[in-house]
Amino acid sequence: MSKYLSGRFGDIKAYVPGEQPQDRSYIKLNTNESPFPPSPGVVAAISQREASRLNLYPDPDARDASLAIGRQFGFSPDNIILGNGSDELLAFAFQAYCDAAAPAVYADITYGFYSVFARANCVGSRVIPLDESFNIVPSDYFNAGGTVFIANPNAPTGLALEPRDIEDIIIHNPDNIVVIDEAYAAFGVQSAAPLINKYANLIVVHTMSKSKNLAGARVGYAFADRGLIADLNAMKFSFNPYNVNRLSLLAAKAAMEDGAYYNDCVRKLIKTREQAMDDLIDRGFEVRHSKTNFLFAKPCFTGGEQYYLGLKERGVLVRHFSQERIKDYVRITIGDDKQMKALLAATDEMMGA
Ligand code: PMP
Repeated sequence: MSKYLSGRFGDIKAYVPGEQPQDRSYIKLNTNESPFPPSPGVVAAISQREASRLNLYPDPDARDASLAIGRQFGFSPDNIILGNGSDELLAFAFQAYCDAAAPAVYADITYGFYSVFARANCVGSRVIPLDESFNIVPSDYFNAGGTVFIANPNAPTGLALEPRDIEDIIIHNPDNIVVIDEAYAAFGVQSAAPLINKYANLIVVHTMSKSKNLAGARVGYAFADRGLIADLNAMKFSFNPYNVNRLSLLAAKAAMEDGAYYNDCVRKLIKTREQAMDDLIDRGFEVRHSKTNFLFAKPCFTGGEQYYLGLKERGVLVRHFSQERIKDYVRITIGDDKQMKALLAATDEMMGA
């Protein structure tokens, strides 16, 4: 850091994304991307014609993409905001709803960006431990005394709350905003999005990076009561009115209209996930029953970091977190069947089988 960095950020620890080493080609099972390409409709939409319009700014209201998303979920564009990835929308929520009187409230084991957003916005955090089985205890979040951020399903555990637990948390926080981050919901949980019609303190955040195979396009969207969407738009228009670029807006719209293709991808990934879980359990691993496109697994024959390093040596990348409570685990993104076979072959080699 330079001596010019504002004193506010002296000890900031920025988010560290999953590694993208360039020294060789790896089987990438470390950033929860989809192994499948975007739908043909998306590829067609990002046509040369649109590329030739890149001299023009994109629509700051993202109207067409919002309408397509709204049609899918039954909401009007007034209840929707698009972001440059869902990370950006989460950042807006931290800016809009966290301050000295309202710290960010989140689990000790959850999406690592929440603590970074809190620090970047110079607001406090109230960190609530998961129980011994890594579950969120809903009542721990009642009258939370701050803005609640819950990833459902949670990352990196892959575990989910029941819809009634989510609703209970919302009901018991009439004076607080509750943000439900559903980045992985399409892989196994019912969305809380319909609850925005009932509760004016709820924001539901989705991403197109996982179940819509569009991590490279950076598109997220959030649903909420129109008053909250107006707040988030105030943050957006105070930062970057053109936050989603022209190509990504077209990709997002086309992806919403190609539902059958993506449902098929999600079905395949769920099948592969269940198989990979059985395969790892057969080898003695401890594996949580994931509702996401990744597995949270504890190898039986070595530590989490050693397993990660051994796989990397063999050309397979997974994610290891050094946090004390989860250092014995790795997070393995579900790839296609061939990639998962390579993971198992590398594992067997390490196990000396
Ligand atoms: N929430 C969770 C729980 C995530 O794991 C991720 C992906 N790293 C995101 C949000 C952000 O996704 P994106 O910015 O790609 O939409």
